[in-house]
This record gives sequence, structure tokens and C-alpha cells, in this order.
Amino acid sequence: MIDSTFPAYRGSMEYVCLGCGKRFAATGLSAELHYTCPACNSVLMLEDTSIGELKKQSGQHWRDLFDSRAATRNPALRGIFRYYELMAPVLEPQDIVCLGEGHTPIVEGAPALQGYLEARFSFKNEGQNPSASFKDRGMACAFSYLRHMARVRKLTNILGICASTGDTSAAAAMYGAYVGDPIKTAVLLPQGKVTPQQLSQPLGNGATVLEIPGVFDDCMKVVEHLAAQYQVALLNSKNSWRILGQESYAYEVAQHFDWNLDNICLFVPVGNAGNISAIMAGLLKLHALGIFTTLPRLFGVQSSHADPVWRYYSADPATRVYQPVAVRASVAQAAMIGNPVSFPRVRLLAERYESLLPGGFNVIQVTEQAIMDATIIANRHGHIACTQGGECLAGLLQARKLNLISREEHAILDSTAHSLKFSGFQDIYFRNAFDPEYEIKPKPSLYNAPELIADKAGLPVEEIAKKIAERLELKLV
Ligand SMILES: *Cc1c(COP(=O)(O)O)cnc(C)c1O
Ligand SMILES: [Zn+2]
Repeated sequence: MIDSTFPAYRGSMEYVCLGCGKRFAATGLSAELHYTCPACNSVLMLEDTSIGELKKQSGQHWRDLFDSRAATRNPALRGIFRYYELMAPVLEPQDIVCLGEGHTPIVEGAPALQGYLEARFSFKNEGQNPSASFKDRGMACAFSYLRHMARVRKLTNILGICASTGDTSAAAAMYGAYVGDPIKTAVLLPQGKVTPQQLSQPLGNGATVLEIPGVFDDCMKVVEHLAAQYQVALLNSKNSWRILGQESYAYEVAQHFDWNLDNICLFVPVGNAGNISAIMAGLLKLHALGIFTTLPRLFGVQSSHADPVWRYYSADPATRVYQPVAVRASVAQAAMIGNPVSFPRVRLLAERYESLLPGGFNVIQVTEQAIMDATIIANRHGHIACTQGGECLAGLLQARKLNLISREEHAILDSTAHSLKFSGFQDIYFRNAFDPEYEIKPKPSLYNAPELIADKAGLPVEEIAKKIAERLELKLV
């Protein structure tokens, strides 16, 4: 079936090496799936070399087009691919897999909470993606490209593999299970360093789940080796197709505010730095196409227990050098990464960003205590913040304290996953049972626990009701 609503434009995608600058075809029959530069092993980024074609249209044209697509019934254009021309304009409709990712709500901070914190903010609830984190955006793009490769090259057997702090493996396993033949999925996890909910996801989706002792960085080294030596499809954000898909976050924020981000700033937790790279790349693309004229200021947030990017940007620009750190236990566990794979992308994109908007790129460091308190406080006000979302709120409070933003600026906090994935940390907080390594003491005012109201079964209803009425200080009608 030919669908007239599907765009005719096809881009010409190339991998660009951030180390040596060499370029490699990403489409056409000679294209390979590259994760790192075959010449120098550096990180790659994807570029549409025919973007000049897109620039011939006005910003208004693009704004109108993307707004009209928001109502499309074409499943291939309903999710992140409604920004098709900016995303991966080499895919055909039959390649595209859409499991309902994207379109996540931006929920204004509860009025009482904004007042109490003296800060203006909204959460973008990425936990409302199908596997309950933003990773679905990138995975939808990566799997669509894999299907494209499988179709064009007639591949009969693809093994997708990733290392994960929990959510990448959940997303990979879900898309892998949905797509099925010829793709199978295996995930490598740091034993005991993903939450039980996150672990249940790839298990339930039938992926092969492998574990090693250690942290994410240890797993990443192993899958990098596998990707270099064996025929596997790497699904980590080293895979540039993941970054493309995650750019859709930036497009959605801009569209939500009617393509005008004056007075808006974005807070993003930084782990492997794929997400913040994608968001910067997306914003730069919108700017390049004249879709908006003012870039928003961007704040990466890191815990003091996993802060290599903060360390780099807080050092003197003249002498700073990037150095990985050894991570310590963090409740922002999905961002507990000491050697972010996408650091070279951040460095390059931040430089471009700063050249257009001096002071536009910032990194904030927060304590574990601040992250956990902010998470609990947000959810007490009706939000569904994960600990990384809490990290963003803690980052906003820190930025206000440092006078980096004003009371009037509207901060969009990326709550990267659903609170339920990380509810174990809430439980530990309430029980005051954090391992000393976390350096977290609960605030008694935030404590909550179930109360057993009847000490034995079978009490008469009236008696139980009376106990409850006393507990809740109810008045008789
Ligand atoms: C992956 C992840 C992060 C970190 O994102 P990076 O792209 O690795 O920087 C933050 N929060 C959650 C919930 C994640 O799953
Ligand atoms: Zn290179």
C-alpha cells in the first residue's frame, strides 16, 4: 500500500568520526553498521549531508508540517518518526517500529511545590514511554534501522546486544521481542546494580540476560569488545541511531511550547551522556532549520558520586582534561557511570552550542542526599519522578542557589524513567536503611509507612471503623 502521507524526502546519512573526521556511508548497499570509527576507533555521529535541501523550506513550513503530523493516523509517523525528516530519513514505512514511544506529557510542577521551592518548573515524564524510560526513543530508531538493514541486506540472523544500568536492556528486550525474526536480544548487566523492576523487564520479554560482578563501565568494556570481534549489533548509545531517536525529546519540548523556547531551560541527568548529546543535537538542528531562533539554556546534572562530566566543565577551560572517575553508590543508579561513552559528543556539541549561545551549556553537581530528598518531595506532590528526575529537581535548586537562573525562568526537568522502577530506593529511605556509602539520611518529615489498624483478623466492621475514625480524627455525621 502506498501511503501518500509518508514523506517523499530521503536524506543521505553518513557516519562522521569525532576523532579523525573520516566519513562512512550509512545508507546504500555499501553501508555498514558502525559503532566506532574503523580507522581510529573514536565515537561517531550521524549526519544527513542533504540537510541543505531541508533548509530551502522556511521555519514556518516545518512548524506547520510537524504540527499537522501530530494528528496523523499513519502508525509509521505517529511516534518519534513524526519528525521523520530530522530523524532517520532513510527508512521506509515498513521498517519503522512504533510501540507508542514519545508524546510524553510535560506536567507543570504542583503549585504548592513550586511555591515552596521558589522555582518554576515542569517535569517531562519520560517514564510514560512503553518500557517506562526515555530509552525507548533511541531504541525505536535503532530497531527500525536494524529492520531496514535486515530487509535491504536480506540478513537472516541478528543478535542485538547491550550493556545496561537497567533501562537500555528493558527497552532493547521489548523492541527485540516485538520485532522477532531475524533479531534476537542479549543483555549484559552489572549484578545487583539494576533494580528488581528493571531486571524483570528483559526477563519477561524473553531476552538472554547475562550478569557480571562490577558496575556498568565493566559491562560496557565487554560488549564493546564483543561488538569489535563478533557479529553482533550493539544497542548501546554508542550506536548513533540511538542518539538520533533520542533527539525527539528536544523536538517534543519545542513543539509543546509552540516552537518558542524563550525563557525555558532544560535539565537533563547525565550518565553515559547519550541523552544530553541527543538533546543538544536536536536543538541545534531545529535552530539550523530556522524552526526557532532562541536556543534554550541547557543544564546537565550529575551526582557527586558519578561526576566526570561535571569535573571536566568545572575545571579551568584552558587546562582541563577529561578523566574517567571510579563511581560510588548512587540512587541515580541509571546514571551511575564513570566513563561516559558519549563524552566526545558532548564536548563537540557543547562547543557548537556555546558558539551560538554563550553560557548555554552548563553542568551542575548535586549530592545523593539532595537527589533523594528531591525525588521524595516531588512525588509527595503528585509527580512520578524517578531518582534521575529527582536529580534534575535537585539540579534546579542548586542552579537557583548558585544564581545561575532566575525565579522567572521555566525549567523543564527530564524525569527519565517512571518512579516505580526505582521505588526500592524510596523504601530504603523510609526505613532509614541506606548503606553508609550512599551518604543519605532520611528527613523524618518525609517518612511514610503502612499502619496496621487491626491486630487480628475477623474483628467486627464497626470496631475496625472505630479505630480508623480515631486514627483519622473523624467527626460523626
Ligand atoms: C540511561 C538513563 C539515564 C542516563 O542517560 P545517558 O544517556 O546515559 O546519559 C538517566 N536516567 C535513566 C532513567 C536512564 O535510563
Ligand atoms: Zn576516526
